[in-house]
Amino acid sequence: MNFQYWHPEKEKMDRAALKVFQLGAVQKTLVRALKTDFYGKRLAEAGIKGADDIRSLDHIKRIPFTTKHDLRTAFPYGMLAVGKDDVLRLHASSGTTGVPTTIYFNRNDIVSWTGLVARSIFSTGCDRRDVFQNMITYGLFTGGLGFHYGGEEIGMLVIPSGPGNTSRQFRLMRDYGTTVVHATPSFLLHVESKMREEGVARENISLKRAFAGAEPYSEDTRRRIEELLRIDVFNSYGLSEMNGPGVAFECQCKNGMHLWEDAFFAEIIDPDTLEPLPDGETGELVLTTLSREAMPILRYRTRDITAFYTEACPCGRTHRRIRRIKGRSDDMLIINGVNIFPSQIEEVVMGIREVGNNYLIVVEKEGFMDRLTVKTEISLEIFKDDDSRVLNAIRENIRRTLQTAITVNPKVELVESNSLPVSEGKAIRVMDKRPKDV
Ligand code: ADP
Ligand code: ZN
Repeated sequence: MNFQYWHPEKEKMDRAALKVFQLGAVQKTLVRALKTDFYGKRLAEAGIKGADDIRSLDHIKRIPFTTKHDLRTAFPYGMLAVGKDDVLRLHASSGTTGVPTTIYFNRNDIVSWTGLVARSIFSTGCDRRDVFQNMITYGLFTGGLGFHYGGEEIGMLVIPSGPGNTSRQFRLMRDYGTTVVHATPSFLLHVESKMREEGVARENISLKRAFAGAEPYSEDTRRRIEELLRIDVFNSYGLSEMNGPGVAFECQCKNGMHLWEDAFFAEIIDPDTLEPLPDGETGELVLTTLSREAMPILRYRTRDITAFYTEACPCGRTHRRIRRIKGRSDDMLIINGVNIFPSQIEEVVMGIREVGNNYLIVVEKEGFMDRLTVKTEISLEIFKDDDSRVLNAIRENIRRTLQTAITVNPKVELVESNSLPVSEGKAIRVMDKRPKDV
């Protein structure tokens, strides 16, 4: 494989040098943060007065965590470390788990963010000859403009299509010879089903790659998109609190996402004891910005569950890779006392050949018990099959495989393909209809 690097001196930085750089950057970030109302108070309470309190990377443990709740409390300007006049842009998180949080960028922040997205895109083998259709929501969501600027930085032709309207997406792909797209994995699956439905010939489009992120998905889902669309799919991880996209990204090796450690200091902690875990163990990702000026954030608890790979990547980048995100700790469902991540269900359904490209998890209360139903789309040919034994056998196979994987016995409903709702933003995979405890 021929590897290419956008920022070779940074991406292949020797790890000892990277650590020295990180320590300096943490100290600078801390000094900036101390200027904000929020951290001014928070750090004083923790007895941290300045850079001298953090003389080694290990001392970072002294800094208290920041949570989404803190960002909401500090809303609107409590975490701003520059004058309002220096702010060029704001973005807000999609609000999956409540009130959205707002992130501010000054000119340098936009430049460094753009560089991170550009290096991520470039690491997948794309270059200025590519035509990039950005099929993700623009606006307050960071995925639109973040990828847009990154693509332009490389010199690609960027088509700001946004999501939705699949017929129009196909037209754009054909007219301009799109070679790479960015979308949520659920939208890519939807695009593929629509392509078949509308009879779009694969030969008429030049697609080679896709960046898929913004929501958790399984390795089987990746493989399915790759096989059906005959492209390479690269996992893209980011969150608005850390700019948006360009936090961690898969290189051509497609084996875990390089987390850009010259821009973020990463820890994985045990979400119960809050202690940092050794490399290789699974826990919650905690991130500190290393270059952000307008809004530095220290030890942000992402709630995202992952682990570091311990081996180096063949591409030569020295930045450690994280595993596919298992989900957020707050996505976890408790069904009759059993903890289940929606991603465990996805792994099973997407691994079954007859299952179509969409599914929905419904949780209800039946008397005192929780009832889990998994609705899965089934291709039209099978669905129309007169022989009910065929459908029953498929249903029973899904149920049995799920039960083995999650230990809860689910009800499985088969529905026609393209009949479950498709979201333009992040997919809504779970409908929890249980009454909330008061
Ligand atoms: P919100 O927090 O409101 O959903 P964001 O746009 O900031 O808004 O979403 C960031 C979150 O999206 C991450 O914390 C993570 O949970 C999820 N996410 C982003 N990219 C991925 C990915 N590649 N795999 C799994 N989850 C992802
Ligand atoms: Zn690599």
